[in-house]
Amino acid sequence: MGLKKTFQKASSHLRLERLKEKVQQRQSHIALILMVVLCMASFPFLMRCSPSQPKPEGAENVTQESEVTQPPLPDEVVHEDLGDAPVIKEEHVSLNELEQRVQLGELKVKMAQLDKGESLLTLLSQENVPTADRVQIVDGLELLINLKTLRPGMQFMFFKDGPAVVGISLMTGQGETLAVLREADGSWTPFSHTGRIETKTERWQGTVEGNFTKSAKNTNVPESVINQIINALDGEVNFASDIQNGTQFDIIAEFKQTEGGLEIGGKQLLFIGLRGGSLNINRYAYTAKDGTTSFYDARGKSSGKRLLTRPLRAKARLSSPYGRRMHPILKYEIFHKGVDLAAPKNTPVMAAADGVIESIGRKGSYGKYIGIKHADGYQTAYAHLNGYRADLKVKSKVKRGEVIGYVGSTGRSTGPHLHFEVLKNKKIVNPFGKNVIAARQLKDFDLEQFQFWAETVHPDYKQHVAGKIPPVPAPKPF
Ligand SMILES: [Zn+2]
Repeated sequence: MGLKKTFQKASSHLRLERLKEKVQQRQSHIALILMVVLCMASFPFLMRCSPSQPKPEGAENVTQESEVTQPPLPDEVVHEDLGDAPVIKEEHVSLNELEQRVQLGELKVKMAQLDKGESLLTLLSQENVPTADRVQIVDGLELLINLKTLRPGMQFMFFKDGPAVVGISLMTGQGETLAVLREADGSWTPFSHTGRIETKTERWQGTVEGNFTKSAKNTNVPESVINQIINALDGEVNFASDIQNGTQFDIIAEFKQTEGGLEIGGKQLLFIGLRGGSLNINRYAYTAKDGTTSFYDARGKSSGKRLLTRPLRAKARLSSPYGRRMHPILKYEIFHKGVDLAAPKNTPVMAAADGVIESIGRKGSYGKYIGIKHADGYQTAYAHLNGYRADLKVKSKVKRGEVIGYVGSTGRSTGPHLHFEVLKNKKIVNPFGKNVIAARQLKDFDLEQFQFWAETVHPDYKQHVAGKIPPVPAPKPF
């Protein structure tokens, strides 16, 4: 589908790296042995090879020293030795191996997240890693990354053989995988490699019998993808009445997979097609130049979407409306800038519309707070949260209906509730008013990129267009 990355290349690169390491180690061993042999052979000159001399650490040092004290060694000797040795012998445990063992059910993976004030050592002790191992693991990882740069929210993958931890891996934001793996002899080997994550797509096609959700599940569409579809088509398709028996669905999602075959980060919906009865829908997920991701029809037009009025994943009671009111704590009349939705602590809070996180953190009397910027001059704010979704930060993209945090009572608050505000062009508006992000027609650069992208996503893109595409103007000369 044109999205395939050079998996082969990455794995051969990995092998090459290992081979290099091994050759270096071997060279260092050979150099050591040769030096000892030469020292013994030149017994009369032994005084030069002082026994109290510290052991050389690197292969280069050894070579230099033997060059100084001894005539240069013929190259052939080294090559011959290397040729005899079984160079490609798997001595190291590899991350691929561990990942494959997870799929075979021999190992379990446990995700552990670094919370505020925690260090890697905290996680290691939570997993009951023996003290001696902890030191080696931390030392190993320290070789790969400055441990001071580890931040709350980072996810560690613990590979467990029963209760024992046999490997720990971490993905950096730059697509690099860092790992420390336990060898058969009990020692720990650090390991780092970029590009071992591949992006793959999966497609499900089927016919609705009964209801859409059930039929999609029967076709092995994951629940998370079904939820993304329902959110993407919310307001456009009534899943109860528009979809009948015989409606055909066509779903494509993208996911990331490690070399060892482990899926990470969940599946992202790229395309949803629904056909039958009154429906003929094709929607492609596309991230525009401005960073917002939305679903567009084949001609690059998105549908208008109303902002969620109660962005909670549970029934909420309106405990305080928008407008003038007596403040429950301050006891004088103030203008209530949002609505208060009472809900149990830790009820998931959703983004009211597609957008980008503008602020996330404590904000005075608002307590734990999230601000999101949307299209069409809309902004939404969510206050008094108990916590945030772990991976979110400023500039993270969120989709309508996606969980961003959890209800709490932080800041100036009398009990667990969500204080929810909506702004249009920086002015407070009623969250229960008609706040609609208008349909958008992609133009110029975005339209061109969209068409290119859609063609790689779906083999029948050109048929989906079925009609005239607005012409793409030629780029302006400058
Ligand atoms: Zn409020």
